[in-house]
Amino acid sequence: MNTRKRLLITGAGGFIGHHLVKRLKADGYWVRGVDLKNPEYEASAADEFEILDLRRWDNCLMATRGGIDEVFNLAADMGGIGYITVFHADIARNNALINAHMLEASRQNGVKRFLFSSSACVYAQSKQKYADVSPLREEDAFPAEPEPGYGWEKLYAEELCRYYWHDYKFETRIVRFHNVYGPLGTYDGGKEKAPAAICRKVALAGDPDEIEVWGDGEQTRSFMYVDDCVEGLVRLMVCDYRDALNLGTDELVTINQLVDLVADAAGKQIAKRHNLTGPQGVRGRNSDNSRLREVLSWEPSITLRQGLALTYPWIEAELRKAGAVGKSKNVLAATA
Ligand code: NAD
Repeated sequence: MNTRKRLLITGAGGFIGHHLVKRLKADGYWVRGVDLKNPEYEASAADEFEILDLRRWDNCLMATRGGIDEVFNLAADMGGIGYITVFHADIARNNALINAHMLEASRQNGVKRFLFSSSACVYAQSKQKYADVSPLREEDAFPAEPEPGYGWEKLYAEELCRYYWHDYKFETRIVRFHNVYGPLGTYDGGKEKAPAAICRKVALAGDPDEIEVWGDGEQTRSFMYVDDCVEGLVRLMVCDYRDALNLGTDELVTINQLVDLVADAAGKQIAKRHNLTGPQGVRGRNSDNSRLREVLSWEPSITLRQGLALTYPWIEAELRKAGAVGKSKNVLAATA
């Protein structure tokens, strides 16, 4: 491994970016992190951490200056289903600016490789209508019918990456994450995803108690623990594959099963109160990992039960530190 490589992680103040910085520092690389904000729960391990708004072209040039070899572009305006189904204009505009400027600035500054973090939200919605969904293969993103706003922008940015390879021979990698969760991830405020939101609600609940779940809870998803995500990113950056690749697990669960697993991790008896008017997103979504296995000879292997056994205690401890456990009742809910 070339320990003198200089790496830039955008979105390094966010959940996956922060974990990735830690991993790449542990591997011996020189790392610059960039974000609008510092990591929320602990200091960044990056050699340099700069607060820059990457919607701005001049800031993207600044972020990529100084002989950066590789860019992991994780910065994005995003959140859980309650966020991305509401703010289409802001999300699409902010992310289009970040991705277009980061690609071009990286190319102009001589970056050798650029990884774009896409999402399972690029997949055609008509292929996700049933809870017992067929796992999504990479080609299922076309004909295009992605999630409005966030999904359309991700699909467009994927295309842009392909054009940069086609026109400039600029090396791009494209990864489609499926629901990443783990410690040090946002668990309240509206941008949290289903596993974190459910961990929070269960931590705040009594024993026995009930929590609110958006929809009938029979909608399905697969969830990937953050260590698997980071391992996949590291492997994907060095591989030769330039087209989009799923990065997720194919352990399909209903949101009701997710609640039961969290309740088990907490050792609590939790009933579900279904709010049928809450946003649910697509009915079913799972990752087909055939191509991932083929390309990387590897796939995520941490089960949801194992991951939640690490995530729940962290969220519960955070809420306890904030003096929230035993005081407030659950009022908000989220799915995926
Ligand atoms: P996150 O929200 O924790 O991190 C994203 C970071 O980008 C945030 O810290 C945010 O401040 C930063 N950012 C936003 N706008 C910025 C700007 N204008 N300039 C600089 N920084 C800016 O999200 P995450 O879960 O760590 O996701 C990382 C990437 O993975 C994102 O591109 C996201 O779309 C993608 N993704 C994540 C998931 C998931 O389940 N977590 C699923 C699919 C795709």
